[in-house]
Amino acid sequence: MVMDNLGQSLRDALKKIANAPHIDKKLVQEVLKDIQRALLKADVNVKLVLALTKDVEKRALTEKPKPGMSSREHVIKIIYEELLKVLGTQREIPLKRQRIMMVGLYGQGKTTTSGKLARYFTKKGLSSALIAADVHRPAAYDQLKQIGDLINVPVYGDPEEKNAVKIVKKGLEEFKNIDVVIIDTSGRHSLEDDLIKEITDIEKIAKADEKLLVMDAAVGQQAGPQAKAFHEAVNITGVIITKLDGTAKGGGALSAVAETKAPIVFIGTGEHIRDLEKFDANRFLSRLLGMGDIESLMEKVSEALSENDAEESMRSMMHGRFTLKEMYAQLEMMGNMGPLKSILTSIPGFAGKISDEEMEETQRKLYWYKIIMDSMTEYEKENPKEIKSSRVKRIARGAGVDPREVRDLLKQYNNSKKTMKTITGNRKMRRQLMKQLGNLDLK
Ligand code: GDP
Repeated sequence: MVMDNLGQSLRDALKKIANAPHIDKKLVQEVLKDIQRALLKADVNVKLVLALTKDVEKRALTEKPKPGMSSREHVIKIIYEELLKVLGTQREIPLKRQRIMMVGLYGQGKTTTSGKLARYFTKKGLSSALIAADVHRPAAYDQLKQIGDLINVPVYGDPEEKNAVKIVKKGLEEFKNIDVVIIDTSGRHSLEDDLIKEITDIEKIAKADEKLLVMDAAVGQQAGPQAKAFHEAVNITGVIITKLDGTAKGGGALSAVAETKAPIVFIGTGEHIRDLEKFDANRFLSRLLGMGDIESLMEKVSEALSENDAEESMRSMMHGRFTLKEMYAQLEMMGNMGPLKSILTSIPGFAGKISDEEMEETQRKLYWYKIIMDSMTEYEKENPKEIKSSRVKRIARGAGVDPREVRDLLKQYNNSKKTMKTITGNRKMRRQLMKQLGNLDLK
């Protein structure tokens, strides 16, 4: 998984919130310290980390949760939203006729990524071509030519020519009928004046629609100054972060977007020409935090369970149907202090009184059950008995939790199922329940 260490530390921090008996200032500050540590370890820019945690703290302690949302979910939502801000605004490179200029230092993955991009546009039905304008690295032309041959994309270059501007001019002429022309420019070991001059000269000729900065995820705290210098030279329109598949910390490169205000448009996730992903900040963050689709989770959480859903679940339970879905609905009703609580508490000898602590515990469980269940297939939710231990592991991985937590969910399911069987199998209890349900027309 991309940036696994950071993901794990952030997940642990969020778990502290989800598992806490209640949320207070001390807990928020403690969790924010954890988040700070995690982000700094991943090389996210210090100033950015401090600004982010300050904003989260302020919002968490002053904003009120939306109706139907617990204070836990509220704080998690704020953390999510503020992390999302760091990743910048969303932008896609349009699918149209255009010129793209790739810039960046040596070894960042510029040449490889130029090829990956050419393949991307070709797959989308646009013709594409590559110009090898890296005149400093002797093997650069051959490398690009090899990539071009591999993906059937023409490459223009002249290994004898030392003037990059001349190459670009000729290349653009040669490819005037091609939809997307990608120019691979020179890199240097560090930012040097002649590199900046060369790319500004190329930019004047190429008048590129996109100027994409290619950055290795391992670049660290150097990312900010680097991005700034390239941005001042050619006005960067997007950032591509490469090698996010490695063990790199990635935070430096990710936070470089704050320096350029140019959004991340793609990420490189491997050496293969296929390994390029369009960058979607929401998806990236949800994956990092191991939360499936957190946005829809948040929406769900804020919606109270509708009458119809409650009725539907109660009806199927009364008829002896009890899958994970029914269990979840049942817990959700309890969490919402819905009908089930009053029903269960009114049955003598059954549930007794449900305390506030138990309600809290139910809400906590609900939060994690939802995440775990989101990693299951429909079939598994309907047939939890069939979930074997290899599946438990996979579900746990998908949800970013320990397999033990998946087993806990299944154990809770088995216990609840037994209880429901006792109720629905006992005529007296069943009648009493039906009476309590009153206007829920249970056939
Ligand atoms: P350039 O000097 O910026 O043109 O860099 P190259 O394109 O030559 O890439 C340098 C090295 O990084 C090569 O070995 C590439 O295979 C490798 N590379 C590029 N992108 C990725 C990526 O997303 N993941 C991995 N693992 N390696 C990459």
